[in-house]
Amino acid sequence: MPRTHATLPRLYVASDLVAGAPVDLGKDQSLYLAAVLRKVVGDEVVLFNGRDGAWRARMTSDSKRSVSLDLLEQIAPQPAPSDLWYGFAPLKSERLDYVIQKAVEMGVGTIQPVLTQFTQVSRLKHERLVANAVEAAEQCEVLNVPTVAPEISLSALLDTWPSDRRLILADEGAASASPVERLAGLASEKIGLLIGPEGGFSDTEREKLLALPYVVPISLGPRILRADTAAVAGLAVIQAIIGDWR
Ligand code: SAM
Repeated sequence: MPRTHATLPRLYVASDLVAGAPVDLGKDQSLYLAAVLRKVVGDEVVLFNGRDGAWRARMTSDSKRSVSLDLLEQIAPQPAPSDLWYGFAPLKSERLDYVIQKAVEMGVGTIQPVLTQFTQVSRLKHERLVANAVEAAEQCEVLNVPTVAPEISLSALLDTWPSDRRLILADEGAASASPVERLAGLASEKIGLLIGPEGGFSDTEREKLLALPYVVPISLGPRILRADTAAVAGLAVIQAIIGDWR
């Protein structure tokens, strides 16, 4: 991917980005630009909102309470949103932040925390997960910020799973050591990836999952991976074999 304006700070904003329309930042982003980065009137940044592509913008006010900017030009069009669904049993603190960041970098469209029998964390701060996803998008030049869905139990997830979407189950007990063949046959399908908790799925959960017609178990190699490693490995093989790395 050709990079442009890589040295400019990138900020996600809620406002529409339209040629000629000024943008006023809220308190936190104003403080960040004016006080933390010490940007002043005339300095440029890149703005995106998940709808209107990326825009080069110039500061017209450097107030620490309210930075204003003029939009100069669109530097990247808005890409089509990703359809890749990623479900995972939430992990504790830093490792939870890590999997959210990595999911954004790997180009998922929906991030879905799933509560399983052995999940160690049951109450999540949704705003913190969303803020993490936004920060990851800002850092990695991702223009689509994934939707972060509220947590759901595994049984409720399976009860409402759409019949036209395959659910790839990262399953350390899967027969083949290679996920390549299993995935290659799914190139035209809607896809979800489900990763279990640190203690794995319970026997009952695993049996239930494996009996479902839309579930496709894959192995991620001969070693047991930690759940956050499995997430990155699983998303990487999916993107490489049937996703947007092709
Ligand atoms: N079953 C183990 C246990 O009892 O602790 C390990 C669970 S593993 C740490 C966490 C999750 O990562 C698993 O539920 C699975 O989804 C995924 N995973 C880890 N290693 C894997 C592998 N080699 N192949 C497929 N999935 C794997």
